[in-house]
Amino acid sequence: MAKYLVCGGAGYIGSHMCKRLHEAGHEVVVCDDLSTGHLGALQWGLHACGSLEDAAFLRELFATHDFDGVLHFAALSVVAESMRDPQRYYGHNVAATLNLLRVMREFEVSKLVFSSTAAVFGEPLSRVIAEDHPTVPVNPYGLSKLMVEQILRDSARAYGLRAVALRYFNAAGADPSAVIGEAHDPETHLIPKLVRKAAGEGMQVTINGTDYPTEDGTCIRDYVHVNDLAEAHLLALDHLDNAVGMHTFNLGNGTGHSVKQVVDAVQEVTGVALDIPVTGRRPGDPAHLVAGSKRARAVLGWEPRYTKIADIIETAVRWHGTDSFRNWIAEASEAGDAAAETVRFDARQQQRKQG
Ligand code: UDP
Repeated sequence: MAKYLVCGGAGYIGSHMCKRLHEAGHEVVVCDDLSTGHLGALQWGLHACGSLEDAAFLRELFATHDFDGVLHFAALSVVAESMRDPQRYYGHNVAATLNLLRVMREFEVSKLVFSSTAAVFGEPLSRVIAEDHPTVPVNPYGLSKLMVEQILRDSARAYGLRAVALRYFNAAGADPSAVIGEAHDPETHLIPKLVRKAAGEGMQVTINGTDYPTEDGTCIRDYVHVNDLAEAHLLALDHLDNAVGMHTFNLGNGTGHSVKQVVDAVQEVTGVALDIPVTGRRPGDPAHLVAGSKRARAVLGWEPRYTKIADIIETAVRWHGTDSFRNWIAEASEAGDAAAETVRFDARQQQRKQG
């Protein structure tokens, strides 16, 4: 059995990975600065609290543990935010990853599975996005991930790094045990917003545009269960035992669901009638994003288990009904309040100095 470092293991997909690695008998060490992750998600393995931007912290971590490989989930991932503050995205997502890669090389750790995204493709040229589709990102988030992919490709060639970049489509759902799940604050994703609204939370959910060139006029996405994503990482680690170089795979079900179809499915699963107002388009939303995952299926032997949207939603509903979810959100809000108070305090200090 192996020992893996999971960067971002307190986050949504990273925590599901930790659970899966633990179930497979591996040892887990999480590196997470808890900026968006949750303490409650740290249920498997050890936790080192620190940032990938801190090279000294990373060196100490690698000197303490003998890692067989690294799974890297730690990133900022909100497209709109990346448009407002691109330097923050390039800093967190690119510069910090470069730190990690340098330290991995120093300590001769050569296996990496990296969380990439469908956003590397930009505006799709075809209905189904094959793995060899051109990559022309349309926002700093997608570009930051594509930059890292390029760094991995070059590092594989120059230093013998073995890397897999997994391009997720729309991650959704939660572990069926409901001991972990998605808890973003604020939440921007369609499924958790709808599920939380159905549960009576005051969520602002809208249908973002009904004039897209799709059958019902709303955007189509490929929703893939978070445990199916975790499984793909495990297969990618196996693949890297024998494969050299850098490899990219798409992770999606290959089936698209429109926003209206998702609204209907959430109503059906929860039994709650939802009145969702229609607004205009959200900038930067392509009409149609559906994965072609042929390579992931053929090379990794990956087969998603959650192929029905209702089953994915059902696991999300189960998680959102737990006290853990409510506690995680409450803690995240407190952390946000504390950060806001620090900013206000700094501003008061500045004013005092100037005064
Ligand atoms: N969406 C929506 N209303 C919302 C949130 C999202 O209509 O309140 C739409 C969004 O515009 C996109 C789809 O749902 O077409 C999926 O959005 P999400 O943010 O979940 O994931 P993304 O595709 O942006 O990664």
